[in-house]
Amino acid sequence: MAIQELPIQVANQIAAGEVVERPASVVKELVENAIDAEASEISIIIKEAGLRSIQVIDNGKGIPADQVNLAFKRHATSKIFTSNDLFRIRSLGFRGEALPSIASVSEVTMNTSDGDSSTEIYLKDGEIVDQKASALRRGTSVLVENLFYNTPARLKYLKALSTELSHITDIINREALGHPDIQFRYVHDGKTLLTTNGKGRVNEVLAAIYGFRQAKDMVAIENDNLDFRVSGYVSMPTLTRASKSYLSLFVNGRYIKNYKLNQAIIKGYGSKLMVGRYPIAVIYIELDPQLIDVNVHPTKQEVRISKEDLLYDMIRDAIMAALQPVQRIPDVFEDE
Ligand code: ADP
Ligand code: MG
Repeated sequence: MAIQELPIQVANQIAAGEVVERPASVVKELVENAIDAEASEISIIIKEAGLRSIQVIDNGKGIPADQVNLAFKRHATSKIFTSNDLFRIRSLGFRGEALPSIASVSEVTMNTSDGDSSTEIYLKDGEIVDQKASALRRGTSVLVENLFYNTPARLKYLKALSTELSHITDIINREALGHPDIQFRYVHDGKTLLTTNGKGRVNEVLAAIYGFRQAKDMVAIENDNLDFRVSGYVSMPTLTRASKSYLSLFVNGRYIKNYKLNQAIIKGYGSKLMVGRYPIAVIYIELDPQLIDVNVHPTKQEVRISKEDLLYDMIRDAIMAALQPVQRIPDVFEDE
């Protein structure tokens, strides 16, 4: 066969193979778009673990009607423009891949308004089928239906609905923890699974996710130097879990996975943890975007951090200090 450029739908489906692994990946991308749009309220409405539908509604800045088609074009983004921008990324998205990828493996209906113009667009197989004026207050709603209907291999690879749902819940919990200033509402098949109040208090988000009693057993941590600011909450050594999946790390608001920094958390407990038990921790790292490379993997959960060894020490030391007996946090739940 002669070499030829791939049709755009095929190229998008290939990208989707990396970005849209499962329903939870769609949730992550849509929620992160809402966060980038500076929403203060985000609703996530899921049906049948995302296989029937995923809808994310935000009150963010919306997209002007005449740009909506661009949002579904590959490598089209409002978040970066020059290659220098790649070294100072503050937004969660920047690759301009999520919407075209999602649209190539599902049916998408987007309603969006920037306050001046409102539009509804419907895509199937990644192509715009219909676009018309609509009525919506400022914000965006993205409805994704029949995910993977045209990629049977991917559909077959999915796990039980309960497993897919737990991946969705996991990602929403982390986004809510990463953004305590945003009000989240998460509904599955008519049942509300999480609401957060958006008041910016991490311990209240922790209570909403892990329960009031657990949240009370967590202590605040803090550590600063010229390069990093570390803050967050970690559980008392008596409050543990059987897996490391209750460790959450955020860099400038982005949830990341990092084996080494997870080890720093555990090290902070010294010999206080029983074998096979892990704490609950939510750690926020603020740094100059120049110190981090997020352009490592399409899902952007894997990042490279300069001076990671220094950060490791800071996290470990912050936890060690916080677990000194005198450092229990005051009861902040009294007024709720
Ligand atoms: P990226 O987030 O990497 O820019 P996406 O494909 O996720 O790429 O989105 C493309 C563009 O569509 C974004 O850059 C943004 O301008 C716009 N967009 C997507 N979702 C929203 C939203 N919920 N609110 C406002 N604008 C959005
Ligand atoms: Mg995006």
